Amino acid sequence: LAKPVYRTLPIATPCVVSGEGALSQGVAELVKQGIRRPVVITDTAFVDLQVFQQLLQALEAAALEYSVFSEIVPDPDFSIIERGIIHCRNHQFDGVIAIGGGSSIDATKVINPCARHNIDPRTVPGMLKLRKRGHYFMAIPTTAGTGSEATAAAVITDEHSHQKRVVISLTVVPELAVLDPSLMMGLPPAITAATGMDALTHAMESYLSRYATAKTDALNLESMARIFDHLPRAFHDGANDKEARRQMAIASHNAGVTFTRTSVGWVHAIAHQLGALYGVPHGLANAMVLPHVLAFYLPHAESRMAQMARHLGLHGSDDASLALALVEAVHKLCDQLEIRPLLTMVKEEDIPQMARNIINEAYRSPYPVPGYFGSYAELEAFIRGM
Ligand code: NAD
Repeated sequence: LAKPVYRTLPIATPCVVSGEGALSQGVAELVKQGIRRPVVITDTAFVDLQVFQQLLQALEAAALEYSVFSEIVPDPDFSIIERGIIHCRNHQFDGVIAIGGGSSIDATKVINPCARHNIDPRTVPGMLKLRKRGHYFMAIPTTAGTGSEATAAAVITDEHSHQKRVVISLTVVPELAVLDPSLMMGLPPAITAATGMDALTHAMESYLSRYATAKTDALNLESMARIFDHLPRAFHDGANDKEARRQMAIASHNAGVTFTRTSVGWVHAIAHQLGALYGVPHGLANAMVLPHVLAFYLPHAESRMAQMARHLGLHGSDDASLALALVEAVHKLCDQLEIRPLLTMVKEEDIPQMARNIINEAYRSPYPVPGYFGSYAELEAFIRGM
């Protein structure tokens, strides 16, 4: 499979400040960069959380003339992006701070350059259509899932077609990522589980990608182990278990670093349809689809799946049984996280269109996956079986 040109281009990695106190280090870095008038971009629910006040206090202590745009909602659409652009321009901003989950970070990736250069955001989805750089961008992820703070992608919903549009751009990677586990302690268990499974999906799809390299393999295996060890802990005792939160933040970030280089696969193509048609949150949709797609990959990717299983300490007498043990381990993890990987929301009449959209996404990107569906009918049967 020939690599598309954009995958041969260098993708920047953000500078990272992490651990206890990372938030104040991040604000100090903004000041060092000469930023005076940042816009803080977050979602409508996050703005009421105590951790959000912590950021504002740090900005006030640094005497920054910030403004807050808090209209982001999960899976933001273009109308919200347009309002964010107007907000930034009115504030005469010289920097952006995204705080929250992937929705806030993705929205900021598009708002920032479009506001700075007066670009219509509806023209930027696709490969490398957005080439201009925004102002200095600090991203503060407060979910451990998307890894968006490390990726060259942003996902924005088209409010007319209800489809998610992906912006791939080398200029949207934030300059600075703040990984502060103390900001994640209040993340509710269900969102912790769903977003954590998103990170696992990134690491696994990236590992199975035909563009995987020795470097991405090492990071992905490490992320998978961190997630298997710490996601159940973060789910059951996330308000107290800071170490589990810290490990999840690192795993999610590193999986973002890798999948933006290797791409994702069928899990994402199918999960995007669950989000578009039935409003299933992104992480949860990935979690529900992941074990089924791993089972589909069994005959195509046995030895790679066996390598993952070995790294996770699973047992089996040969590659086939190890690969199967991996699928079972993912089912067990879903069980521990109270996620039922059953796609009961899918309506029979939607399946043909879903299959077309899935194939469209997977072939347009193209997704460098180990196995392909032979026909629409085969994919439709697969969807019915989930
Ligand atoms: P999200 O950003 O939609 O947030 C979900 C909810 O969690 C929100 O209500 C938010 O207020 C809440 N929340 C966030 N942090 C919290 C905290 N610390 N405490 C309490 N509540 C908190 O969820 P997400 O899963 O992080 O992001 C999903 C979006 O990211 C989707 O649009 C998806 O398509 C996109 N995505 C982007 C990339 C990328 O590379 N750019 C990768 C994967 C997913």
